[in-house]
Amino acid sequence: MHSASSVLDWAIIGAGPAGIAAVGKLIDQGIPTQKIGWIDPHFMVGDLGQKWSHVPSNTSVDLFLRFLNDCEAFNFKSRSSKFHLESLDPKETCALKYIAEPLQWITNHLKKRVHSHQTTSLALSHFQGHWEIKTQHGPLYAKNAILAIGSECKTLPIVGPELINLEAALDPEKLKEAIDPQDTIAVFGSSHSAILVLANLIELKAKKVINFYRSPHRYAVFLDDWILFDDTGLKGFSAKWAKEHLDGMPPHNLKRVLTSDHTFEESLALCNKAIYAIGFERRKLPVLEQYEYLHYDDRTGIIAPGLFGFGIAFPQAKFNPLGQVDFRVGLWKFMDYLNSILPIWVKYANR
Ligand SMILES: Cc1cc2nc3c(=O)[nH]c(=O)nc-3n(C[C@H](O)[C@H](O)[C@H](O)COP(=O)(O)OP(=O)(O)OC[C@H]3O[C@@H](n4cnc5c(N)ncnc54)[C@H](O)[C@@H]3O)c2cc1C
Repeated sequence: MHSASSVLDWAIIGAGPAGIAAVGKLIDQGIPTQKIGWIDPHFMVGDLGQKWSHVPSNTSVDLFLRFLNDCEAFNFKSRSSKFHLESLDPKETCALKYIAEPLQWITNHLKKRVHSHQTTSLALSHFQGHWEIKTQHGPLYAKNAILAIGSECKTLPIVGPELINLEAALDPEKLKEAIDPQDTIAVFGSSHSAILVLANLIELKAKKVINFYRSPHRYAVFLDDWILFDDTGLKGFSAKWAKEHLDGMPPHNLKRVLTSDHTFEESLALCNKAIYAIGFERRKLPVLEQYEYLHYDDRTGIIAPGLFGFGIAFPQAKFNPLGQVDFRVGLWKFMDYLNSILPIWVKYANR
């Protein structure tokens, strides 16, 4: 049995950018720090910090700075020296490692303020008005839980070519190790990460690259106070590279094939390695006992009483001014979303 005093008010599962924002904003809302629990096996800024540090961002430095400055509990003003991010042109994009550095600094001090548990959550079940969160190191109890568990790269069930994972493909040093001079490499996708992979392979002078895509690439269009194709369009380095090499002069070693084209099968048969850059899907959950199929409300993140989903795994759906629905993923978008939904979560919470 656990005592009532050992029940947390809130448990946050995941310490990527979304988990960091959720912990910070709960403190800003006045939730006592000793009533907040935070669970992650690494506390190293999630996938952004651990996998994507070499990736050029698709958002500008000023949006990262807005994220860092928007939360009182981050205590960003108390840093003893400036981060490299702050010396960059605010209107430009940058390597993701420059935002990962201040986020790691914030993680380190938030971790000390709340109950942090360096472990993996294995299962959640609801019992007598609170959640039991089973972890590798024993159970935790919380009235409310936020899942901020991130997403994994999607792959396709294609048999044949050897797989190079996206993490390696987006890191030029790792990619160099993964390819051989005689390789013909299939790259699936036409979004930001697919274009970055193509750029890396062309820069490394791969013998032959075949880009298989389902729909043409798109560019984000910066309008007065909003961005068309904000979450799906190319921006920054990937937009510049695509304009020059896909819409302009294609490199001699790059061929592009629509997946619906009749030459798809024969082109694929030429490839001995494959890279999938076709999007992301929610990471496998800690088992949600009693909830066989997980649905979240994509306008509020609410999953069940006292259970909320947040971050890249549970993105906010929002209409743009043309009436199209965007699924909003990005650091500043997480913060903006949290500012509007956290007061709702606190009202909806188990007490
Ligand atoms: C290639 C790429 C480039 C991007 N570029 C930008 C950009 O330029 N600008 C921008 O704003 N956004 C960008 N994003 C989008 C987004 O900001 C990041 O994906 C962000 O890292 C998502 O944060 P998250 O916290 O939701 O997930 P993650 O960063 O994946 O964090 C999830 C955390 O949950 C933990 N976890 C998972 N399961 C469990 C469990 N069972 N128990 C305990 N802990 C668990 C993991 O260890 C991890 O720390 C990019 C995304 C990608 C993939």
